[in-house]
Amino acid sequence: MNIKRNYKYLLSDLTELKGVGLKTTNLLKRKKINNIFDLLWQLPKSYTDRSLSSKIIDLKVGDIQTVNIIPKKYSFPRIRNLPNRVLCSDETGNIDCVFFNSYEGYIKKILPLGKEITVSGKISFFKNKYQLTNPKYVSENSSLIKQKHNTYSLTEGISEKAYNKIINQILDKLPVLDEWHPNHVLKNFDYIKWNDAIKELHKPENIGNYKKNFYLRLVFDEIFSTFLVNSEIRKNIKKLKKKNKIFSENNQNMIIKNLDFSLTKDQKKSLKEINNDLSSSTKMFRLLQGDVGSGKTIVALLAALNTIYSGFQVSLMAPTEILAKQHFNLAKNIFPRNINLEFISGKSNYKTKKNILEKLSNHKIDIIFGTHAIFQKKVTYKKLGLIIIDEQHKFGVNQRKKLSDKGGKNCDVLLMTATPIPRTLTMTLYGDMDISIIQEKPKSRKPIKTFSKLESNINDVIKFIKKEIYLGNQVFWVCPLIEESKKLDHSSVTTKFEYLKRLFPNQVLLLHGKTDQEEKEIILKQFQKNQFKILVSTTIIEVGIDFPNANVIIIENANKFGLSQLHQLRGRVGRGDKSSTCILMFKSNLSENAKKRINILKESNDGFKISEEDMKIRGFGDILGFKQSGIKNFKLADPIQNHDLFILAENEIKRIEQSNQDISKFKALVKLYDRADVINDIV
Ligand code: ADP
Ligand code: MG
Repeated sequence: MNIKRNYKYLLSDLTELKGVGLKTTNLLKRKKINNIFDLLWQLPKSYTDRSLSSKIIDLKVGDIQTVNIIPKKYSFPRIRNLPNRVLCSDETGNIDCVFFNSYEGYIKKILPLGKEITVSGKISFFKNKYQLTNPKYVSENSSLIKQKHNTYSLTEGISEKAYNKIINQILDKLPVLDEWHPNHVLKNFDYIKWNDAIKELHKPENIGNYKKNFYLRLVFDEIFSTFLVNSEIRKNIKKLKKKNKIFSENNQNMIIKNLDFSLTKDQKKSLKEINNDLSSSTKMFRLLQGDVGSGKTIVALLAALNTIYSGFQVSLMAPTEILAKQHFNLAKNIFPRNINLEFISGKSNYKTKKNILEKLSNHKIDIIFGTHAIFQKKVTYKKLGLIIIDEQHKFGVNQRKKLSDKGGKNCDVLLMTATPIPRTLTMTLYGDMDISIIQEKPKSRKPIKTFSKLESNINDVIKFIKKEIYLGNQVFWVCPLIEESKKLDHSSVTTKFEYLKRLFPNQVLLLHGKTDQEEKEIILKQFQKNQFKILVSTTIIEVGIDFPNANVIIIENANKFGLSQLHQLRGRVGRGDKSSTCILMFKSNLSENAKKRINILKESNDGFKISEEDMKIRGFGDILGFKQSGIKNFKLADPIQNHDLFILAENEIKRIEQSNQDISKFKALVKLYDRADVINDIV
């Protein structure tokens, strides 16, 4: 029967498949396989070749063999622990098929006397006879058995045979989808069709073949659909008309003149780009990307000032109160007195909060600083014109889109992140936004001297920090998160804390995963005020907080971190003019490879470059924990291996955008590959 199927079949529930009930469905759902489409990407790991059959006389004990036999006699002893047996033979000899725990009826059905049957399995030898125990591959139809059978990394509770049956069923019924790509794209992949490519993907002989057209086409589909969704979001945002902001740059320039540094070229360029967006009549949705310490805050505050002078309110949100407060304090210092600033804290009492909310709703406040509290439902703004969000690289496309909707018609959005990432990743993760990049660091910034040390030489490290503390400096001591066990994690920081406390009485603070938010902010403040000299912690301190006196960071077990993460951690120090030091500690001598890695860090202070190298070494998912960020991983695409295809996809998207092409022919593609769950209102 030839049923015409379209892409919707692939999105249907697993129970649509023959032989898949609730039990299997639940097992697969645990592996995040929710529909038929998801199953397509579980690739075979290896295969068992059952295609060649042998005569009984030639069987090799211990190997998996396929053989045609004729069942001759049943032996069902009906005694506990004695297996049921079927004596079989061919013209060259005898073999027993032995069944533990199988019903007679079942055995008689699969091995009827006198019929030629194909069986396959691991051959053993018992009491002078060949034997096949609990054979799983038994059929009258030898072609069903004589093939290469794929091995998948199986979900517990689903047998290999059952799994292959499911996959083969899907491949048999695979819909022939209308081609979505134009010929000039397809020619890169020798015009292979999507459904043919999927079939190739599951062929045993193609296991590990990542360079062939079928594979590359599927990789491209994946990248392209991601970019297309991003592009559509961006396009839709650009369609939103807003009231353009009118301001003169005089006010901004006055402030710049009074700073005790001059802006870098990249800071100026970014500010210009943002100002252009503010004064245009389409909504801004922009990311300001720059390494730790590259000076994003001042750029954002100047943009805020321009917004305020054009008669609008601004809200600036940071991940922690301490960071929000830092921005508030800076603004208070540099903004003219007639600007009304406010900081809202979760700890403020009811009356204060109520007062602030009231002032926001009647525009008595020009700019508010706070954590996510400033976006709660009950917070209303009279005339919100700009939302600034600091250090939220973990916001996914979806959250960002909501945010841009939330501010209202005239509201621009500026996100900031200190997460330099390779370009292929930027296109993937932030393709829905316009991007300003601050690459160049302030000239006054001294590079952080980076050393490695064996843990056994901890005494040298202690001597070093004693000296630094004597000079009035402060020290971060970072222990890695132990992913496998929160308990171990906890004990590793507390042990170190106890150890350091003995050496530096009354000078050491401790922060770990179990410290609650409020306590954490108190501890950070104590450290910031220089009341303690050493802060022992896991990686939970946010990027971007200024600790003007801290100029040493010790990172224990440094091989547990990726390069980007190490770079970001060391960015906690060296934000001022002091020269600073980062000591990477290792449990054992470094391998040549590890040395190479660490050298990149020692030699470079450029987060973009480091992240590029990091991705080459560790792959996409590991960079700064994007895996945990809720940003879905690609199924096949790899930003390093498939760099060319990312560029191809980017160019193709540009072409589509520029020619204003109707994208409805990509509907099936986008519906299938929906990585962001945002496309419902797009195609
Ligand atoms: P980040 O990009 O990590 O958010 P910040 O905006 O917090 O960095 O800036 C880090 C420090 O550098 C701040 O103390 C800030 O005053 C200072 N700074 C910013 N721009 C410059 C500059 N052009 N020259 C010198 N120092 C600067
Ligand atoms: Mg910052």
